[in-house]
Amino acid sequence: MKYVSTRGQAPTLSFDDTLLSGLARDGGLYVPEEWPVFSTKEIGALKGLSYAEMAIQIIRPFTSGVIEDGDLATLVNQSYAEFDDPAVAPLKQLGDGEWLMELFHGPTLAFKDYAMQFLGRVFDHVLRKRGERVTIVGATSGDTGSAAIESCRGRDTIEIFILHPEGRVSEVQRRQMTTVCDDNVHNIAIKGTFDDCQNMVKGMFNDTEFRDHCKLSAVNSINWARVMAQIVYYFYGALQLSAPENPVSFSVPTGNFGNVFAGYGAKRMGLNIEKLIIGSNSNDILSRFFEDGRMLTTGVRPTISPSMDIQISSNFERLLFELYGRDGDITQTMMKTFSDTGLFEVGQGQLEQAQSLFSAQRFSDDETLAIMKQILIENKELLDPHSAIGVAAGRDKRINSGAPHISLATAHPAKFPDAVRQACGQQPVLPPSLSDLFEREEHFITLQNDRNQVQDFIKSHRMDGAN
Ligand SMILES: *Cc1c(COP(=O)(O)O)cnc(C)c1O
Repeated sequence: MKYVSTRGQAPTLSFDDTLLSGLARDGGLYVPEEWPVFSTKEIGALKGLSYAEMAIQIIRPFTSGVIEDGDLATLVNQSYAEFDDPAVAPLKQLGDGEWLMELFHGPTLAFKDYAMQFLGRVFDHVLRKRGERVTIVGATSGDTGSAAIESCRGRDTIEIFILHPEGRVSEVQRRQMTTVCDDNVHNIAIKGTFDDCQNMVKGMFNDTEFRDHCKLSAVNSINWARVMAQIVYYFYGALQLSAPENPVSFSVPTGNFGNVFAGYGAKRMGLNIEKLIIGSNSNDILSRFFEDGRMLTTGVRPTISPSMDIQISSNFERLLFELYGRDGDITQTMMKTFSDTGLFEVGQGQLEQAQSLFSAQRFSDDETLAIMKQILIENKELLDPHSAIGVAAGRDKRINSGAPHISLATAHPAKFPDAVRQACGQQPVLPPSLSDLFEREEHFITLQNDRNQVQDFIKSHRMDGAN
């Protein structure tokens, strides 16, 4: 499988080059040259497989020619071996035809582990074969950093530096990053905001000399391999219910459009998905788009579901490319307009096409707290605020066709204890693997919001030696 850029100007790449480069050189995002399609019979044959067995079948067409079958099986099996539920992504019934898929059984308790655990291993595999090492740099507002660190820790092909805004991530989130003590893991608290951290990372990638010197690489949500690994759980959930013959719908709490775009990928690969319902918080750029076809940025507002506090849904570019018949020129022009003016607008035909599969609903913090309480009372489930938004969006937008509906639960409630306490009046308990999190020793350095200082730190703390 080869990969093309959504902006049509960057070279076509193999899977391993796509993996390591992250963003395309023309500023676009990589997508498969064509979607692999499974027939209904082939999808039916996946029924009953374990999560890892199914992941191997779904991922294989995307990595063919680069990763050998035996290696892929090993990487996938190792990725999910330590998850704390034997089903990996268990389904729980909430109501009549209403299901919850728990995607928080990985080491850092958010759905990002499902892709990131595989990503760290596949990076290591590809780098080892090439005899190369990379420096991964990323900014985090919470969940991405810990998932990335957990997947890269202890790997001698990778040096990882994660920037977080000092005092602006929750204590659970900070400790999940800073209590990892492997030599290749470096936590940097920046005296600034998340945007400062992100701008600094962008600046490092634009500093060609520094980028090449350190062999910078990224594992953020625009990396194709993350989307790819997330496609798996849509198949896994649907096949436990009415698929392949009958449709399933999903609701997904999303900000960057990464998770729900994986659902779109599953649909393109042949899975019978009726609707993909998006739940947003008051940072509702996506909900507004699916109403009127206008993508308009406004400032970011902090909410109790901080992992969706975004200004721009970066993965949406992949859908835009598809809505315009994979025309890189149109995508490039629209994204340029968007970056110049903060607005683009799709045509009526594209909007209708988008609305035929997607719908969206926004929820304020007060509404989210009320839903969390309601779900506890009615369904005896303690949900984190993101997952509650997904359930609520499904309830509001589900069409009454009889198709079963699955809401993706994206984080464990103990990751967001303040909101859970506020809504439900109880303290969510961390799972056993993290029960001593508050006693563990923290390792991090605090630096000023000054890119030169941070780059000097990175240069002097990379392990020298191999290339
Ligand atoms: C990252 C995250 C999201 C949003 O994911 P997208 O990539 O924007 O789809 C939702 N919930 C939780 C708990 C997260 O960590």
